[in-house]
Amino acid sequence: MMETTKKETLPTPTESVKLVENVGHESVGSHVSLPTLRSLYLTPPKQYTIDDDANTITFKATLDYPPVRRLKPSERTRILVTGGAGFVGSHLVDRLMVMGHEVVVLDNFFTGNKQNIQHWIGHPHFELVRHDVVDPFMIEVSQIYHLACPASPPHYQYNPTKTVKTSVMGTINMLGLAKRTKARFLLTSTSEVYGDPEEHPQKETYWGNVNPIGPRACYDEGKRIAETLTYSYMRQDGVDVRVARIFNTFGPRMCPADGRVVSNFIMQALRGNPLTLYGDGDQTRSFQYVHDLVDGLILLMNKRYQSPVNLGNPEEYTIGQFATMINKIVDPSRAIAIKRLPALTDDPRKRKPAIEIAQKHLGWQPRFGVQQGLEETIDWFRLQAAENNEAGE
Ligand code: NAD
Repeated sequence: MMETTKKETLPTPTESVKLVENVGHESVGSHVSLPTLRSLYLTPPKQYTIDDDANTITFKATLDYPPVRRLKPSERTRILVTGGAGFVGSHLVDRLMVMGHEVVVLDNFFTGNKQNIQHWIGHPHFELVRHDVVDPFMIEVSQIYHLACPASPPHYQYNPTKTVKTSVMGTINMLGLAKRTKARFLLTSTSEVYGDPEEHPQKETYWGNVNPIGPRACYDEGKRIAETLTYSYMRQDGVDVRVARIFNTFGPRMCPADGRVVSNFIMQALRGNPLTLYGDGDQTRSFQYVHDLVDGLILLMNKRYQSPVNLGNPEEYTIGQFATMINKIVDPSRAIAIKRLPALTDDPRKRKPAIEIAQKHLGWQPRFGVQQGLEETIDWFRLQAAENNEAGE
């Protein structure tokens, strides 16, 4: 069923929000100006030239690496980021590199890609290893950010058994590494551990309402057992652990075809297609911008709090409002066209983080309004579309 409507009212909270110009926290050395980060994804030097006559593409070596902070060797930490070539991982890698640390990325490129971290390849502080976390891996590091796991429903449902293996065996392998090297370990868990919540907003003390046999279970239950493993290694082996429960996050470098609501709406709006709403569109979500999440992850790693911490933006929107907002940014003159499809199985009705723990123990709260994040994300999607057209991809 297709309809054209202007009915959805726009939410107002973000419109008056001051634009963010700096991110990070000086207490952990993660402070940096937004333009510095933007230069890594919105105005990167062109890495190829195209010869239309010969139908060839010539990739170029990057001549100058982005500037990184000068740290004394004693201040520099060697940090492992699993899944560092993915959406969130690559922004975390950017920040840790700019902070002056040594970063090792471990990735099997299932959903990530080299382009996301291309600007660091060959840098003396950076190493990239193609490896599947399901297999053991040994390296001397002081901190492990364990992100490796497909995160969008089409990706994690593509091979559910592999998703479970990645969560379970991958987390065992990384916790084993943390145990052997005495590295601090941070698990990127998810708000999906709350399932279709009966408590709203969701506090960290809520145990969740997850269907253990549904199509999302490979991811939700995978992350729940990853949390169980994390606290087992803490109690049994004294591993120093951190657990971030991440709520919906968006930003540049999201995979345009990942089927998540933000990328779907942006791609559909840019192509001039109707925006698809599953169910009545009244289900709510809270969306945080990726730089806020990276701020939270680095604070969490460097503070002492060991219990799970929600990282998300409590500003709540219905999916319908979100569609309206994206449509308006992409083309303010166009009336929104909506295509309604049946609700998805086990799709939660409501999602909103309670963030008091992060505020109290990390001194963290989101700074970006959804509007500013969306504008930057849409700029990046436009850039991708132009580059892909040019490169014939
Ligand atoms: P993503 O799919 O962009 O990144 C995941 C990365 O892990 C990719 O680079 C992928 O190639 C890699 N990977 C997957 N399986 C692997 C394996 N077996 N071995 C090695 N590498 C592997 O997803 P993302 O959005 O960047 O999510 C990163 C982490 O954050 C995930 O653990 C996800 O569960 C968690 N998270 C993300 C969100 C979100 O909204 N983006 C929300 C909650 C939790």
